Amino acid sequence: MNIFEKIVNREIPATIVYEDEDTLAFMDIGPIIKGHTLVIPKICYDPVTETPDEVLTKLILVAKRIAAAQMKGLGADGVNIMQNNGAAAGQEVPHIHIHVIPRFEGDGHHWNWNAKSYESAEEMEQLAERIREGLTE
Ligand code: AMP
Repeated sequence: MNIFEKIVNREIPATIVYEDEDTLAFMDIGPIIKGHTLVIPKICYDPVTETPDEVLTKLILVAKRIAAAQMKGLGADGVNIMQNNGAAAGQEVPHIHIHVIPRFEGDGHHWNWNAKSYESAEEMEQLAERIREGLTE
């Protein structure tokens, strides 16, 4: 059982901000910015590509409500919504979750976005074509 399932089962504590039949939202214990909240389905799915559409729909709708609540309740000026899949993408807990991170003007956090460039338009087009081919439905 993963750590988020233990939170769902109340085997370990969490500071819950929202709960319904299918979904739980709780404070991240290692906030990027204070107020950082995680939204999870109560049933474990992972990664996003294996998660049913109706579960994803519910998650993003709850994340939207949490974002609005961070703006209203915390006075956030903006919100980052993130979702990591796989260790290569920085995922630590193998139970799908959406990070909802409140942002404040001058909060001092900077994503290491590190934008790169393609060597040529052809290179970009070749990669685009491989993605198109991957779109099986
Ligand atoms: P990720 O890297 O996308 O898998 O994110 C996992 C997140 O879960 C991290 O931001 C952690 O700080 C957070 N986390 C891990 N354990 C707990 C816990 N027991 N309660 C709340 N948040 C947790």
